[in-house]
Amino acid sequence: MPSYKAPLEDVGFLLNDVFQIDRYDNLPGFSDASADVRDAILNEAAKLSEQVLLPLNRVGDKEGCTRHDDGRVTTPTGFKEAYKQVAEGGWLGLSAPEEFGGQGLPSTLSHTVAEFLTSANMAFSMYHGLTMGATAALLVHGRPEQKAIFIPKMVTGEWTGTMNLTEPQCGTDLGLLRTKAIKQADGSYKITGTKIFISAGEHDLSENIIHLVLARIEGAPAGIKGVSLFVVPKILVNADGSLGGRNGVTCGAIEHKMGIHGNATCVMNYDDATGWLIGEENKGMQGMFVMMNEARLGVAVQGLAQSEVAYQNAVIYAQERLQGRSLTGAKATDKPADPIIVHPDIRRTLLTIRAFNEAARAMVVWTALKGDVAHRSEDAKERQAADDHMGLMTPVLKGVLTDVGFANAVSAQQVWGGHGYIADNGMEQFVRDARIAMIYEGANGIQALDLVGRKLPRDGGRAVMAFFAEVAAFAKQHGADAAMQPFVAPLSRALGDLQKATTWLMMNAMAQPDNAGAGATDYMKLFGMVGFGYMWAKMVKVAQDKIAASGATPYLTSKLTTGRFFMERMLPETALHLTRIESGCGTVMELPAEAF
Ligand SMILES: Cc1cc2nc3c(=O)[nH]c(=O)nc-3n(C[C@H](O)[C@H](O)[C@H](O)COP(=O)(O)OP(=O)(O)OC[C@H]3O[C@@H](n4cnc5c(N)ncnc54)[C@H](O)[C@@H]3O)c2cc1C
Repeated sequence: MPSYKAPLEDVGFLLNDVFQIDRYDNLPGFSDASADVRDAILNEAAKLSEQVLLPLNRVGDKEGCTRHDDGRVTTPTGFKEAYKQVAEGGWLGLSAPEEFGGQGLPSTLSHTVAEFLTSANMAFSMYHGLTMGATAALLVHGRPEQKAIFIPKMVTGEWTGTMNLTEPQCGTDLGLLRTKAIKQADGSYKITGTKIFISAGEHDLSENIIHLVLARIEGAPAGIKGVSLFVVPKILVNADGSLGGRNGVTCGAIEHKMGIHGNATCVMNYDDATGWLIGEENKGMQGMFVMMNEARLGVAVQGLAQSEVAYQNAVIYAQERLQGRSLTGAKATDKPADPIIVHPDIRRTLLTIRAFNEAARAMVVWTALKGDVAHRSEDAKERQAADDHMGLMTPVLKGVLTDVGFANAVSAQQVWGGHGYIADNGMEQFVRDARIAMIYEGANGIQALDLVGRKLPRDGGRAVMAFFAEVAAFAKQHGADAAMQPFVAPLSRALGDLQKATTWLMMNAMAQPDNAGAGATDYMKLFGMVGFGYMWAKMVKVAQDKIAASGATPYLTSKLTTGRFFMERMLPETALHLTRIESGCGTVMELPAEAF
């Protein structure tokens, strides 16, 4: 069975040293998350992941979910008990507001915990992950009575949540949505339609399931401007919060799919189901965007989490598997062959994954912290800057972490050779599970278009300019430091590539929008690499200072080497992306559709 150890030392380094989370003590909830409290929470999350969720990962994959003739869905053996433990442990309410029964702690902490739980068992973690996303949408856009009825039960995990966007004819293009809503005399709506691919749409883990559903109110405009958001519970809830009768929503089928078998992907049939409007009529996307942005960060973490667990198992195998001899002479002379970790190509593979994981984790912590500032700061300017950062980085994180997370799961499988292809060894499950993260929550091509088409130009480029200024200021501040030269010089070059690409798009996308479309994915990847480069430079600076102050440790020394590897062998990729972007859409668009 694959193993997993939560990367506690790396998380501690990021929270305590690189981002110095204690500096944010003025924000609500942060002073309750002192170093001791953080350690205790992270250690408990590590135990839960390693001891409870990891052993169920393979079980969930093998058994999958089962739909019964009456529409009930049962989850794999052990999921119910594990879910009870997650709910009773208060994990869903870690960063939910105290007034609804949560603990009000920074969401930076809950995103870190999410990485551990998701590495151990991605399919399982989606049940509570989606609930946390639905709770966030209700918190922002729900009416007071909706919040009072639904949120406390979702915070305890007694009720779970889902998001219902997709329909057979309507995936990326939500304007094509057909599910209809008819207003009733009592102010509720009757919802009718079919939703497909609904994660956690039906299961046996919670006593109620709260569906957030996009539908079109009778007479509403066509397209995206006529879409509204509704809350539709599986079991109706009385005004006093007690459970009533069964609502008109059932699971018609579950999908047989490539990965995440332990998570039920459902066709949901709404048949005059009773729902209540969330937010304003025809403004459904505003509410759904809150959930989607939460979920996009969550999905980004899925990419990182699969990359991390696959990496850990590739390292264990590379240390044990004996094949061939080192190019520079035998290393394990007492053995018939050397462990494959002596081979440069295996090391290149492992370091490439590791350098990504550590930078990606830093980007997640950085962005989650901005999320906390955006939601909790009293200073309007601070909130705006943090919100700009979130808007800009959400598509980058979702697109890049899941693309690279999947590629890394494949690379880690490659370290296992043929044994990586054998189901019992678990490596192929990481590959299959990681694959979906590139597709749902907006396929990655759409994330790239969101970045280039919406996030870059927004507010006259304010967010992107702030990012450029921050990276340039760091490079300037440490430019004269000889020890930082191997990091600052490549970072400045990469930033230059990103700035050139941005200028090129600004000058060439208005006249020919296909130039933006053809360059978007490269631009997103280029952006991600510069973000990683900045994270590496920051981490290395802190590691150098710590070594100077209190001596080297294996962890800190490895940081410096991995950081150099990233700068020398990964960051130069930015030049390739720039070249591609600057080649424009010419050859991409030249062939007529029928020539493909
Ligand atoms: C396992 C699983 C779980 C899911 N969970 C949920 C869930 O809980 N709730 C929910 O509502 N949905 C869910 N989905 C649906 C998922 O979000 C959609 O599959 C996804 O949004 C893409 O929609 P689509 O499959 O219809 O692809 P399409 O929209 O048909 O897209 C096909 C391809 O074309 C590209 N494309 C489309 N439009 C454009 C464009 N304008 N420009 C450039 N490229 C474009 C896309 O990037 C994609 O690569 C889930 C799907 C799966 C498989």
